[in-house]
Amino acid sequence: MENDHPTFEPSYDVVIIGAGFSGSLTAVHLVAEFAEGKAPASVALVEKEISAFGRGVAYGTPCPQHLLNVPAGKMGAFPDRLDGFLRWLEAHPAATAALGLHKVDAGTFVPRMLYGKYLACLLDEATTRSDGRLRCLAGEAVDIAPVDTHGGPLQVELADGRRLRAERVILALGTFPPGDPRLRDARFHRSPRYLYSPWSSETRERLAAAGDVLILGSGLTGLDLLLALNGRKPAGVFHVLSRHGLFPQPHRAGLVAWPAFLRAGELPKTGRAMLRLIRAQVAEAKAAGGDWRAVVDSLRPFTQEFWQGLSLPERSRFLRHLRALWEPHRHRAAPEVLAVKDELESDGKLVCHRGRIERIAEMDGGRVLEVVFLPRGAGEQRKTLRVDYVVNCTGPECNYHRLGDPLVANLFARGLARPDALMLGLDVAAEGAVRDVHGVASRRIFTIGSPQKGRLMETTAVPELRVQARDTAGRLRCQEPEDFSARGQPGSAAIAALKPGLAFEI
Ligand SMILES: Cc1cc2nc3c(=O)[nH]c(=O)nc-3n(C[C@H](O)[C@H](O)[C@H](O)COP(=O)(O)OP(=O)(O)OC[C@H]3O[C@@H](n4cnc5c(N)ncnc54)[C@H](O)[C@@H]3O)c2cc1C
Repeated sequence: MENDHPTFEPSYDVVIIGAGFSGSLTAVHLVAEFAEGKAPASVALVEKEISAFGRGVAYGTPCPQHLLNVPAGKMGAFPDRLDGFLRWLEAHPAATAALGLHKVDAGTFVPRMLYGKYLACLLDEATTRSDGRLRCLAGEAVDIAPVDTHGGPLQVELADGRRLRAERVILALGTFPPGDPRLRDARFHRSPRYLYSPWSSETRERLAAAGDVLILGSGLTGLDLLLALNGRKPAGVFHVLSRHGLFPQPHRAGLVAWPAFLRAGELPKTGRAMLRLIRAQVAEAKAAGGDWRAVVDSLRPFTQEFWQGLSLPERSRFLRHLRALWEPHRHRAAPEVLAVKDELESDGKLVCHRGRIERIAEMDGGRVLEVVFLPRGAGEQRKTLRVDYVVNCTGPECNYHRLGDPLVANLFARGLARPDALMLGLDVAAEGAVRDVHGVASRRIFTIGSPQKGRLMETTAVPELRVQARDTAGRLRCQEPEDFSARGQPGSAAIAALKPGLAFEI
């Protein structure tokens, strides 16, 4: 047994770390390949939150008010079956009815928890079909190390001391919680009134029972929180503070597609040039009775190439000056979600502020937090808010040096990975190969999803991730056969010997 023999190491062709959309779908694709005998013979899918298998952070929400920000008809998990989710919904009327949804069509923004159910079903089916070759292991991966100095396999260590041997590792880590605001006086970080975990149920409970609260950030996470607390907070006002005061824009139904005006290979080389082109197209679209959203949507096939065509200083300029404009127009929300926000605002239950925080400090013996900020365009006129709680919804921390995540810290310490030049994620080569401290692309460690933000910019939503999951699995299939098949099913003996209960079966 594993625990009786500390040196025992179950061995897998592929260990996928993280079982959100990216990791789970990569596993599902690999299982589909098993049948043809081309795929790696054994795969372990490791996830630190048991309830997250298949669902990840976004689709594991227990709040039915949290809606997808893409309509159901476009959320299929496979690039060649975009209506796959819609078909699943039609086949599972009880799941939709349980949430009071009696009519769903391609344009409906359904609760994210339903999407989580769909993904968990896909993973469940794949696990069953795999005949034991795909194993879902509950546990946190905290370290990865080469087993020898000749570029041989890797050893993945879990927080409870278990070790897995892996020919290849796929990091499907998703995004990380927001980083703490970096203010001169950082003592508020330790205050129980500063909440840094926007998705936890404890955060929601505390905010629901509080008086006035301040949400830092007006993006999708801030909206999520407003939705979750709407109607559940008898007292107090929500304040939302963000640099630009821009919330995600609402989707609009029935958009007529705008013809692509960009051409691959001939994309603008600066953010400003791109903005000029977009503005001209938006003016044209409006004149023709169209909508700016269709113009923005027409950019999607080109955004990764555009980003890669920018020089490093240009990328940095884009992040400084255009990101705040890009995000809310590009990553829109369901109109129903914004209607709730608007209603809260018109009822006086929500007050939105634009500005830059200067200080957050406990006052009255720790009974309130005082927040001082400089409103945008207000000269030196500072404003002060006194609230029961401040909750950080400023968006995921991308600077991996600041994460405090044990796995990432160990990868850096071992020189197996490094951050990308703009500190948006990991430095990766083409196809997601993780670069080591010297910039050499690994043959054994790959990543998918958010860690690739520095290279791809757009790499966090299902439309990008479903393609990456398929392609990542496809590349593993195409590895040299001796890498995988010569050892038959190397994982199977090890799997059989796993202590019951260590392998988490969905
Ligand atoms: C609140 C929210 C709403 C969203 N809504 C939409 C939407 O409507 N439509 C859309 O297209 N996109 C949406 N997105 C984007 C979303 O990020 C992607 O759609 C997708 O869920 C990302 O999947 P992922 O697997 O890359 O990351 P995640 O879902 O974050 O999964 C990563 C998983 O890795 C696990 N993990 C991390 N480190 C370790 C470790 N060391 N060991 C073990 N496990 C580990 C985590 O626990 C997590 O479960 C939303 C994102 C958020 C945060």
